[in-house]
Amino acid sequence: MKKTVPDTISVAEDIIAGLAIGIIYLDGSGRIALMNTRAEAMLHTSASHVTGKRIDMLPLRTPVYRVLSENSREAPVEISVNGAVLRVRSRERRQASGEQSGEIYELFDVTEEKKEKRQREEIVAMTTHDLKSPLTVLMGYIQTLRSEGEAKVHVSLLPCLDEMERSALKLLDMIDDVLDAYRLEVGLLQTTRSWCDLAAILEGCCLDMAREASLRGVRLTYHLNRDIPALNVDGKQLSRVFANLIGNGVKFTRRRGEVMVDAWQRDGRLHVTVKDTGIGIPEQDLPRIFNKYFRSGNANGFKGTGLGLTISKAIVEAHGGSITVESTLGEGSTFTIVLPCTN
Ligand code: ADP
Repeated sequence: MKKTVPDTISVAEDIIAGLAIGIIYLDGSGRIALMNTRAEAMLHTSASHVTGKRIDMLPLRTPVYRVLSENSREAPVEISVNGAVLRVRSRERRQASGEQSGEIYELFDVTEEKKEKRQREEIVAMTTHDLKSPLTVLMGYIQTLRSEGEAKVHVSLLPCLDEMERSALKLLDMIDDVLDAYRLEVGLLQTTRSWCDLAAILEGCCLDMAREASLRGVRLTYHLNRDIPALNVDGKQLSRVFANLIGNGVKFTRRRGEVMVDAWQRDGRLHVTVKDTGIGIPEQDLPRIFNKYFRSGNANGFKGTGLGLTISKAIVEAHGGSITVESTLGEGSTFTIVLPCTN
C-alpha cells in the first residue's frame, strides 16, 4: 500500500519525539521550531514555552538559553544543567538547493560517562600516588650506595647505579605527570609564586639534561640573555615545563642532531624557545599536540605519557603566558614560551 505524505511526517515526528537524545531545531529565521520530549526533560522546560522564540527572546541563564547561545558548531561543548552534564553539538541544516534553512542542536546526557571517567582517573591517581613511596625508598638506597662510591661499591657497578638512578628519576617524572594531569582535571593544580631567577632555572634544566643529551649523541646548547629579570613565578613548576620541553627535544632528536635553548626579554615579556632538529610533528597533529594523552603516530617507539605538554600549557597559562609550537615533519620543532615579566 502506498504511504501518504502526512503518514510519513507523523512517523518522523514520533521518532524524533521518542529519541534518547535531545533535539532542538531553529528555523531559518532563528526561531525555535522544534524541541523533542528528551530536550524538554534535559532543559527542564516545555516546548510550548519556547517554540516560536529567538535566542534573544529567551530569559538569560536558563538552560535552553545557555545551550543555544554557546558556539557548538566547530566542536561540541559541555554544559552543566542542574547537576547533569550535557554535551551539545550543532550543525546547520541545508535545503536541497544548498540554501541554509536552520540549525539543528543535538543534546547528549554524558553525566554517567563523566562520572565513570572521573572514578577511573581517581583510581589511576591513587595507584600512581602509592607507587611513589616504594620508588622513593629505592632512590634513597641508590643515592646512599652512590655516595659510598668506590669505598663500598665495586667500581664496575658504579655505572649500573647511575643507570638505576636515571631510570628511577624518569619513573618519578612520569608519576608526577600522571598526578598533575589528575590535579589539573579536578582543579587542584596550583602555583606558588616567589621571586625567581629564571635564567638560573633554565640553565639548571639545561645542565640536568646535558648528560642525557650526550648519552644520546645529541648536541644541547643554550643561550640565555643576561638581561632576564627576576620574575614572581612558581619556579618549581616552570622548571618542570622547561625540563619537559628540553627533554622532549632531546628525546625526539636522533643521534648527531641538535637542541638549542634561547631566552631573552623584549617588551616586558620573557621569550624562551626550545628548538630541535628532531623528527618533527605531522602538520595535522599540531592542533592536538597539547591535548591530554595525545601522542603523534611518529612518536611510537619513544617512551612517554602524552601528558607533559598538557601540564606545561596549564602551568604557563596559569602564569598569564602562552606556549606555541612550529614544526616541520622530519626537520624539527620549535616550542616558544612567552611569559609576562610584570607580575
Ligand atoms: P610525551 O613526550 O610523554 O609523549 P608530551 O605531552 O610531552 O608527551 O608530548 C606529546 C606528543 O607531542 C609527543 O608524544 C610527540 O608526539 C609530540 N612532541 C612533543 N615534543 C616534540 C618534539 N620536540 N619533537 C617531536 N614531537 C614532539
